[in-house]
Amino acid sequence: MKAEISEIFYSIQGEGILAGVRQLFIRFRGCNLDCYYCDTTYNENCIDYTSGKEVKNPVERDYIQKIIDNSERIHSVTFTGGEPMLYDDFISSLNKTKKFYLESNMTLPERAKQFKFFDFIAGDLKLRNVTSKNYNELYERTIKCFKILRNTRRRLTFCKIVLPQKFDIHEVSELAKGIEDYVHSFVLQPVFGVWTENILKLQEMMLEFKDTRIIPQIHKYLGVR
Ligand code: SF4
Repeated sequence: MKAEISEIFYSIQGEGILAGVRQLFIRFRGCNLDCYYCDTTYNENCIDYTSGKEVKNPVERDYIQKIIDNSERIHSVTFTGGEPMLYDDFISSLNKTKKFYLESNMTLPERAKQFKFFDFIAGDLKLRNVTSKNYNELYERTIKCFKILRNTRRRLTFCKIVLPQKFDIHEVSELAKGIEDYVHSFVLQPVFGVWTENILKLQEMMLEFKDTRIIPQIHKYLGVR
């Protein structure tokens, strides 16, 4: 089995409630969305920074498995993208010899069940006008994904909401209520470099129904990958 992978590297988790832990990152190529703030770029071949090698795409499952098995002193392995759910068969064929952490846009419920064996789910809730897709349908699909991969005693699931400079706090709060039963907490993450007073008001409003934290992308402030 093979997958299109852009890069493999060690770094710290820069987002969400586990920010700061050391992880192995596997970044898959391609996404089903087109968010206007997306800053993800893809290498044509896979750049494996763990060994300094460039590997031709698509990459063999066993190559990835070996890196996971040989990784030491990591908290977990992050599967990111792009959208890793596009590679559900490939990822579910891997042996979980370390804890597995998923970063997903949570819009592919038909694939979400393949990730039930994961330990950590960092899922997005996209706001209206972020992508060109039909929003109501996108939101329904997001609710379904969170329901399938809900927070349990064995799986920590939280929801990340990327906030632009201007947003309607009532609207964001209402959207969050649709998934509050399925998540451990919400993370409000401003688009990098953006800060508004409203974010504090939104947090206060959401704290009425859920643990809600404001956490920027710390890896960008540190200037690391
Ligand atoms: S879901 Fe993530 S990777 Fe996909 S377009 Fe949006 S920001 Fe980019």
